[in-house]
Amino acid sequence: MGSIFSKIINRELPAYIVAEDEQHIAFLDINPLAEGHTLVIPKVEIDYIYDLENQTLAQLHVFAKKVAIALKKIVPCKRIGVAVAGLEVPHAHIHLIPMNQIADISFSRPKLNFTKAQYEKMAGQITEAFRAGTNHTTTLS
Ligand code: AMP
Repeated sequence: MGSIFSKIINRELPAYIVAEDEQHIAFLDINPLAEGHTLVIPKVEIDYIYDLENQTLAQLHVFAKKVAIALKKIVPCKRIGVAVAGLEVPHAHIHLIPMNQIADISFSRPKLNFTKAQYEKMAGQITEAFRAGTNHTTTLS
């Protein structure tokens, strides 16, 4: 059975997708720690991030960088925090979390709630910034 994230990749489950290429997809976290909290995943279904092949792992980080650059243009913040937990969903993923202070990236904080319209607006803005900043290829060069 595919992971919940594979269902998002296959469009069997809805998600607020912000970026996609052949090997990766990024979408808003449904229980965000911050406005714009985004998950970046490889399309290959592997649970633990450090079980990914080196090349796949490297490309995932390069794709996440492009998403983070787009995200920072849309959500004013000091940094885009990067975290990997993976205890809940068995499909490798990177959390990108806009942050102004260290507490913003604490997973024990209460999660935020946004309306569908707010999620859609945020996803649309990040998508636009991503498209403006990338030619959609994820190479290591
Ligand atoms: P973890 O596996 O501990 O890194 O956490 C998984 C993350 O995925 C959590 O932050 C959840 O809020 C998020 N999540 C779970 N299901 C979905 C979904 N269907 N769409 C978006 N985010 C999700």
